[in-house]
Amino acid sequence: MSQHRETKAIRIQTPKTGEKEHATPLFLTSSFTYNSAEEMAAAFADDSLDVNIYSRFSNPTVDEFIAKIAALEEAEDGIATGTGMAAIFSTFMTFLSKGDHIISASAVFGSTHTILTKYLPKWGIESSYFNMSQPESITALIRPNTKMLYLETPSNPGLDIIDIEETAKLCKKHNILFVVDNCFATPAVQQPIRFGADLVLHSATKFIDGQGRVLGGVVVGRKELINPLYLFVRNTGPSLSPFNAWILSKSLETLFIRMDKHADNALKLAKSLDNHPKVSKVKYPFLETHPQYVIAKKQMNNGGGIVTFEVKGGVDAGRKFLNALQMISVTNNLGDSRSIASHPASTTHSKLTEAERNEVGITPGLIRISVGLEHPEDILNDILQALEKC
Ligand SMILES: *Cc1c(COP(=O)(O)O)cnc(C)c1O
Repeated sequence: MSQHRETKAIRIQTPKTGEKEHATPLFLTSSFTYNSAEEMAAAFADDSLDVNIYSRFSNPTVDEFIAKIAALEEAEDGIATGTGMAAIFSTFMTFLSKGDHIISASAVFGSTHTILTKYLPKWGIESSYFNMSQPESITALIRPNTKMLYLETPSNPGLDIIDIEETAKLCKKHNILFVVDNCFATPAVQQPIRFGADLVLHSATKFIDGQGRVLGGVVVGRKELINPLYLFVRNTGPSLSPFNAWILSKSLETLFIRMDKHADNALKLAKSLDNHPKVSKVKYPFLETHPQYVIAKKQMNNGGGIVTFEVKGGVDAGRKFLNALQMISVTNNLGDSRSIASHPASTTHSKLTEAERNEVGITPGLIRISVGLEHPEDILNDILQALEKC
């Protein structure tokens, strides 16, 4: 009997042990035992055997988390890593070699940009960048040695959206691996593989954990792509810890209802701020004024949990806004049950020049709200009183 994804997020479970526990136990064990020397020899002789050897290779708690994410993204298989960056780095290292070329969106997560610009060149891997609002510019960047196209949709923090289906078609035509960082949406909101993406990855640290407690990463896709990734992780060691996997698997049980509520709260907030005299621009994927609203409606189930707006008065007003908040947390994380505000121009991106910030969509007064699960009126009221003070 086939099940809905909401059910799979709850019911996929490591087989019960002799204790007949209802909830999955935490398998805190570094290694696993064998009944004989022959059984151990067989486990080591064949990489593809489905037996547990050592928790750097596989672990039942980690496997449960991978199985759930793969089911939610409707992918064949996956690997899990200790952080989102480890998932991204492992993907680059597995599929890119000396002499290869990668095309990436210019607005990607800061550390991803650092890998592309500072580390990949050390191994002779070149990169080119395109602006997410000009997807038609990708074709001109394709070279004979282009191996991968990499992007986030919606992007961080600009909330730019690209048509996954159209981009996947272009990649297929040129035999390019299409990798999507689906962190802002989660599989509850968007399934890039359904639209043709080859690999989907996540920082599980964000909405997947959902309560700002643990770090984790995951990559899912076809078995033929996951096999080499699995061997890379197994041999180089960025594996996810069973403890974090246990938390993340538990978090997935509530992913769908959480994302519905995040999106409800976010849409309410976006609509309430839309005509505020101190706010010049509100951006949210499901607001009709979003430049890629039609694409968002096509490929997303809801608008997600992130809203951005521009506070009038530039960098100074943005800083004052953060300082005036009473309930909403000021921190760089996102995807938490607690609402979070950040002002990139005076914090995470303060070292860049204004021109560099504009290039990646960070305008002087840009505020990013990761809308939490508090009562929507309490979130709005804190923002309204802070706007009065800037
Ligand atoms: C946070 C984040 C990452 C990095 O994940 P970590 O778990 O912090 O290593 C990658 N991509 C996006 C879009 C993120 O928001």
